[in-house]
Amino acid sequence: MKRAIKRFFTSINTKIALIMILLLLATIEIIGAYFVRQLEQDSIANFQSSIQIPSLVTNQISTRLTSGKKSADHSLNQIVSNYSNTAISDLMVIDSKDTIRAVSNLNEQSRIGQKSTSTAVKQAISTGRQSSRIVNENGSTFMVQITPINASNGTNATVGAIYVRASMQSVFDNIRNVSVMFFTASIAASVLSGILALIISRAITRPIEEMRKQALEIAEGDYSRRVHVYSHDELGQLAEAFNNLSVKIEQTQEATESERRRLDSILSHMTDGVIGTDRHGNVTIINQTALDFLHLTAKEAQKQPITKLLGIEDVSLQDLMSEQTERIITINPESSDELILHVNLSLIQRVTGFVSGAVCVLHDVTEQQKNENEQRQFVSNVSHELRTPLTSLRAYIEALNDGAWKDPDVAPHFLEVTQKETERMIRMINDLLSLSRMDRGVAKMDVEWVNLNDFFTHILNRFDMMIKAEAKDESKQHKKYRIKRELTKQDIWVEIDTDKMQQVIDNIMNNAIKYSPDGGVITARLTHTQKYVIISISDQGLGIPRQDLTKIFDRFYRVDKARSREQGGTGLGLAISKEIVEAHHGKIWADSAEGKGSTFYISLPYEPMVEEGDEWDEV
Ligand code: ADP
Repeated sequence: MKRAIKRFFTSINTKIALIMILLLLATIEIIGAYFVRQLEQDSIANFQSSIQIPSLVTNQISTRLTSGKKSADHSLNQIVSNYSNTAISDLMVIDSKDTIRAVSNLNEQSRIGQKSTSTAVKQAISTGRQSSRIVNENGSTFMVQITPINASNGTNATVGAIYVRASMQSVFDNIRNVSVMFFTASIAASVLSGILALIISRAITRPIEEMRKQALEIAEGDYSRRVHVYSHDELGQLAEAFNNLSVKIEQTQEATESERRRLDSILSHMTDGVIGTDRHGNVTIINQTALDFLHLTAKEAQKQPITKLLGIEDVSLQDLMSEQTERIITINPESSDELILHVNLSLIQRVTGFVSGAVCVLHDVTEQQKNENEQRQFVSNVSHELRTPLTSLRAYIEALNDGAWKDPDVAPHFLEVTQKETERMIRMINDLLSLSRMDRGVAKMDVEWVNLNDFFTHILNRFDMMIKAEAKDESKQHKKYRIKRELTKQDIWVEIDTDKMQQVIDNIMNNAIKYSPDGGVITARLTHTQKYVIISISDQGLGIPRQDLTKIFDRFYRVDKARSREQGGTGLGLAISKEIVEAHHGKIWADSAEGKGSTFYISLPYEPMVEEGDEWDEV
């Protein structure tokens, strides 16, 4: 209620109406005061002249006053009582000796012959000047006019005075009536003008009120509303300008919104994480990639200090902001989902230099870092792998140089070892070269359609021959093992680089022999599914510990380094095999039971050949 009253008084409508009423009242009052005053003055002047005794009568009175005859008084009384003027209530004639000579009022006839006590009369007689004054008697207003009477003989001497007393009630009644009329009219005019002012101001403020409502709607985000244009005056133009403005705001808002959506979509589709902060370093924007990197939800990240999110709370925000440097952070270190992030922080500065926030870009460099680590590891492995045979070579050569060459018992063995080591090094260098070629993508694949059954059998036959040759050589100790074949009856045609695939199968077969100290059965299988052909080679050898099953395909990884070296291994065979199989879009993996044997699998993509009809024969 209080608020409504306050709103009523503060509204422009009321203000305009009040101002108009007050203005009108002030104008009416000023005009009224002036008018009533003027009316009063004019009425008094009129009244004064209306009670003026005509000169004919004053001459007659003058003649009687100066005659000195006894009958003059009677005649004076007759003139006075015959003179009729409704306004005049008392009329007296006083001579120059202040004696009352005639009275119009019958009740005051006794005053004739008495001396007048009025000083005004004495003054008028002595000065010869007429005087008029307004007196209040018993609540009534009268005008008392004293007119000196000059001698009729032309001497101009004052012979007496006429005293006139006239009631002014009717004059003042008139003035009061006019004033009341004026007052009533001004009240009516004020009420009327107030109503008019309200109507006019309402017409003025209506578009303003509509504009106010529209501004509120715009603030709420609704731009569809338009102000009604009632006229083409200044307010109409303002309403039109307001409508144009809201269209412009809508367009700008749409443009901003679409820009924001574009930015959002860029941010959310970026492979880099982006975090925006305020000037206190608290997160204001964060994209999905950054959330995924940091394993957070948008809610968890919002308003959090960036140093906390990045796990670098030991670095103060000032340092972080002032450094503006790049840094590497690790998320979940030493775990399987370890993530290495390159953090690039830059400040958002206004032209004045005021820092309003910061933008942080997170780039996943896990793979890159791992590659770099692997490369470093690889270089160190290569150096180490070459240094070992070179050191033993140097030792043997030094021993030979020191005279062992003369000793027929040791010299041949020493030479045999140096030769074996040299050959191993050459093998290693060759393996490294072929790996490097594959890494650089320059190893050319020379593919052809091959019947895999024939191809596999051919390789296995070669190994059979080797076994037989070794068995005949009595100088060497040989292991007793046998190759069992489990091949498909149906021909399997695949597109492979035969040289490279032979290298893979050779390597697995050689390993099966190498790591089966007691010989046993080596089972070579060939199977196929709808999409793949699978070659598997199982041995009954040492087996591979479970945790090493995936690592043996890494470069230089060996379960038992000494044994591998002793067997002339380089630790690169399976790594090369993996590269070759993957270049054929296939997979290689191993399965093993420690102490019982291992199985190596190679799967290659396969499309069963569609048998052609006999149409060719018919043509
Ligand atoms: P290497 O030259 O040492 O044989 P490979 O890359 O061919 O290098 O093999 C890597 C390692 O995998 C070997 O050192 C060995 O420890 C293990 N390995 C490979 N094949 C077999 C197998 N058939 N039985 C047991 N261990 C094997």
